[in-house]
Amino acid sequence: MNLTSFQIQQHDALQMVRRHLEKNGAAERDALCACIADYLDYRHRLDQFLADHFHHLCNVTCYQSALSACCAREAIITFFAEVVINVLASSPTELDRMMARLSQPHEGSRCVYLGSAGCLWRVRPIVCALFLCDRAEREVLAPKPELQRRWQSLRDEARRFRWPDRPVLFDELEQRFMAAGCRSPLMYINTSPALLNVKRRAAAAAVGRQAP
Ligand code: SF4
Repeated sequence: MNLTSFQIQQHDALQMVRRHLEKNGAAERDALCACIADYLDYRHRLDQFLADHFHHLCNVTCYQSALSACCAREAIITFFAEVVINVLASSPTELDRMMARLSQPHEGSRCVYLGSAGCLWRVRPIVCALFLCDRAEREVLAPKPELQRRWQSLRDEARRFRWPDRPVLFDELEQRFMAAGCRSPLMYINTSPALLNVKRRAAAAAVGRQAP
């Protein structure tokens, strides 16, 4: 059985980021850690919200039964920046474990990152962190408008880091690695025609605002 293209792309991105950090030393790591500090603060608040309000339901429904329904996808969208963030937040042992998993043929329909103790990412991809199943929305959010408002606010806040209609962290990290000669199919913000269009429109609007 062969590795999937998803596994190969993920493995290569992970390896590229680790090599970049090894080659460029503590100063580069410190600079990158400073760049991602606000994002980690956001992710901490998001995780706390999920733990406070969804832990019980998720634990009973999916974890104890090993159903893990929200991880039942073979491939997920991960931005290159998320690989960078996760490498910075993880130990070498955790990263070795991810790379070993990505290097083995994967059977079944579950996400390749789903291990016996849960997700192998220390900072899960944002698409995973912001996913709620229908039951969670129906049973936890629907009866509580204030909770819905806070959830929407957290979802909106994610755009501030990843949606390139303004300067965003995910683009900054892609460009930093591109400037160092790195290339990855996960660099969607600088390769996806749709996202490049978003950037172009935002740049044109900014020029329009500055015009007398
Ligand atoms: S990356 Fe982690 S959280 Fe996301 S689907 Fe895979 S195992 Fe689940």
